[in-house]
Amino acid sequence: MIVTSSQSAFLYNSPSASNEDSADKAQPLSRSRRNIGEPARYWPQNSTIKIAIYECDKDDEYVLAVKKAASEWLPHINLKFEFVSGNEGDVRIAQNPSNDSEGNSAVGTQALDKNPAYPTMELPWDHKHPRFAYIVMHEFGHMLGAHHAHQHPDADIPWDMEKIKRIPGSNKQEAERNLLPLPRSSKYHFMPYDGESVMHYEIDSAFTHRGWAQSESWALSDGDIAWAKKTYPKAISAIS
Ligand SMILES: [Zn+2]
Repeated sequence: MIVTSSQSAFLYNSPSASNEDSADKAQPLSRSRRNIGEPARYWPQNSTIKIAIYECDKDDEYVLAVKKAASEWLPHINLKFEFVSGNEGDVRIAQNPSNDSEGNSAVGTQALDKNPAYPTMELPWDHKHPRFAYIVMHEFGHMLGAHHAHQHPDADIPWDMEKIKRIPGSNKQEAERNLLPLPRSSKYHFMPYDGESVMHYEIDSAFTHRGWAQSESWALSDGDIAWAKKTYPKAISAIS
């Protein structure tokens, strides 16, 4: 099911058609596959993000599982993660009690705008679930400022819009917000579309034409790593 993939429910501004731009078109064509980011929400370079996990001690198995998966990003960025117990942090993580396969997160520094009484990220409660590490990597991708790879305007996914329109109630709006292409706005930093990105949902052919489908990638792709390195570049160490 497409809509059971990890989702980012409260994250997206309405598309602004008046703000259309082709920021990346002027750049030389690149064959490397990357990602979509939102520079206005990137964290300051070389900063430390304080990440609180509610109702957990720092050595809980749950916290260790979150840290392990989240740390997949660290070799590729110049930020540091400081995990703390409690409810005070730039990023605040709650376990989603109602579902073992969904998460959500604020995009980048949007976390700082949220009411400190509420979480900025929700992760599944079951850290032993096979998809847990994937969901942590995906939500931490949002936390770092990345958007969904499948929402790249160049993804050209042949959505069966009739089926998406029939998704009941608020799930339909959420599906549209989390599935359909982002506007070609200078607000976003579009790198080439990457179907293997950890920021790409599994797409079920039941919701597309011509049998178009994409499976989940449970590891950072070359494109994810390229995006991370470009967004938060580590200093080039002196050549000895
Ligand atoms: Zn997402």
